[in-house]
Amino acid sequence: MRTRKLAALAAIGALALGACGTEDGDGGDGNGNGAPEFEAGTTMAELSEAGTIRVGTKYDQNGFGLVNLDGVPEGFDVEIAKIIATELGIPEDGIVWSEAPSAVREEVLERDEVDIVVATYTINDERKERIDFAGPYYIAGQHIMVAADDDSITGPESFQDGEKTVCSVQGSTPSENIRPFLANEDEQLVLFDVYSRCADALTAGDVDAVTTDNVILLGFIADDPEAFKLVEEGTFTDEPYGIGVQKGDDEFRSFINDVLEEIVADGRYNEAWDATAGQFDPNPPTPPTVDRY
Ligand code: GLU
Repeated sequence: MRTRKLAALAAIGALALGACGTEDGDGGDGNGNGAPEFEAGTTMAELSEAGTIRVGTKYDQNGFGLVNLDGVPEGFDVEIAKIIATELGIPEDGIVWSEAPSAVREEVLERDEVDIVVATYTINDERKERIDFAGPYYIAGQHIMVAADDDSITGPESFQDGEKTVCSVQGSTPSENIRPFLANEDEQLVLFDVYSRCADALTAGDVDAVTTDNVILLGFIADDPEAFKLVEEGTFTDEPYGIGVQKGDDEFRSFINDVLEEIVADGRYNEAWDATAGQFDPNPPTPPTVDRY
């Protein structure tokens, strides 16, 4: 599987390089060297000139953002970030990665510690008060993961017994969405900073379930199919994933939206999916229409 994944990633690299030429319409100089040009003063011009971009992503989510044994992040979000860098004319070694756990995503943008956050990041109005979103580029949905031999939890209603415990992550939408289903929030809801700690707690029998987006849970199940499974009922929310940018940077947001539309059209979106989360998610995504609000 690893070889297949590497081959697919190499294919993306080749495609991305191809798209760097002048035919992509994204600012090549018309002389065939493909260096993108952007209007002076824009974030695109600044990043492109500096040859570097700071990206916040997840480090413990197989399929979307997971740091491999070499310390390099891999996943669908990582590929999306790499494509954005490519379109800015920034080489892969110009990307400065940092971990952006759920609760700090707005903060790292507000503090100008990163240029973009690509981190299974649901677009919503509350977050839009602090930052802006390009996208959506993917629609996930909240689900519940339990131990493979547990048939007692079948959906969110199973927590109405007031006893079964469920783990999620601070600052995430699933940690809020699950609350109305709990008879006793204080006793039943366990919050950590990252989802891998929830998966560990489930393995240890310290919690009865983990709830977050289906694709994140599928990543943990792919890692250990003997240990975990999704409950019977399907997803119970929509989680449209966006790319976080600093508040008010409409030109940069619009540029990223253009890139998203382009990669759906030229196949790079599907290539990125197939090489990452597509390895274990049986449902190929239908790319959503970007929201140029
Ligand atoms: N998509 C949800 C969110 O942005 C859950 C996943 C996560 O915490 O990264 O809160």
